Amino acid sequence: MKSEPVMIFALFCALYAVCLGGPPTASGGNEDWSGTGMSFTLDNNTMIASMARFPQWDNRPEVTEPKPEEENGETAASEVAPVEAEEESDPSPILIHTVQKGETLWDIAKAYNIDIDTIAAANDLVNLNQLRVGQKLNILKVKGVLHTVAKGDNLWDIAKKYNVDVKVIIAYNRLSDPENLQPNQQLVIPGAKVPKAANRQPALVSAAGKLQKAFYYPVYGRVSSRFGPRWGRMHEGMDLAVNTGTPVKAAAAGRVTFAGSNSGYGLLVKLDHGNSVETRYAHLSRISVKVGQQIEAGQVIGYSGNTGNSTGPHLHFEIRYKGKAVDPSLYLLK
Ligand SMILES: [Zn+2]
Repeated sequence: MKSEPVMIFALFCALYAVCLGGPPTASGGNEDWSGTGMSFTLDNNTMIASMARFPQWDNRPEVTEPKPEEENGETAASEVAPVEAEEESDPSPILIHTVQKGETLWDIAKAYNIDIDTIAAANDLVNLNQLRVGQKLNILKVKGVLHTVAKGDNLWDIAKKYNVDVKVIIAYNRLSDPENLQPNQQLVIPGAKVPKAANRQPALVSAAGKLQKAFYYPVYGRVSSRFGPRWGRMHEGMDLAVNTGTPVKAAAAGRVTFAGSNSGYGLLVKLDHGNSVETRYAHLSRISVKVGQQIEAGQVIGYSGNTGNSTGPHLHFEIRYKGKAVDPSLYLLK
């Protein structure tokens, strides 16, 4: 959704450029068009974004920030007052919104006239229904991605990764020294393809190297045996009692590294999730994936059963970090 004022402004710009017979050269006038990403071949979103934020355009017509639609009372809890963007004194392409009591992500998205996917991606939100009061949210003013610069990142690689013109990124973020990005610097990439919020999943391992509570239950059932010492030896997983034939879902996105029979495990699937994280699904009655296959979180990888060293139908589920089995109950999402 584009705001009307910005649309009108974009139209105005286009007309202005056409009247002038195209953009003047850098030396041809008092507007510096060089290196601004001003281009009429970009898609609408990107073009409007770069125009609206055109840094050297001093005589541009007043552009007002999108305002929330007026509500007719009685929805006090869901009214969100967006932070007013101070165009001149605050050139930051990111606004910060502090979550108020009763606000939902949808209220906030509507108030800022930005889509849910953009907000979710810019804030690494996984559960869209769980905002905390007082939580600070990055709000982008255009559909796009918020990229945090990693050590060794350069702008040209970033531009390539998101398939966005490097000039657009420079102009939009008003980068004075594009060749020297700082680690942790945040860049708005206007028009970058935003992953669907619904497909987002939590990082399994934090930046500090700690395994996170970020795994989905592969099946729902009674815990018939916990992780820990059992019968004089270590039980390296969690047993979930379910009827044979229950669909078993991947606890996180990953790649299949084993799919077949493995002595005591019976029919077993192993998934590699990167960062030295592995999950195992044992005693299956049937396997529906192949080694090497990329799996989404929640995708069915097989069906529960009673194969291998098992005393009754159940799923034996393991999470391993750096090769060592950990207690799954500590890392499963409710
Ligand atoms: Zn078990």
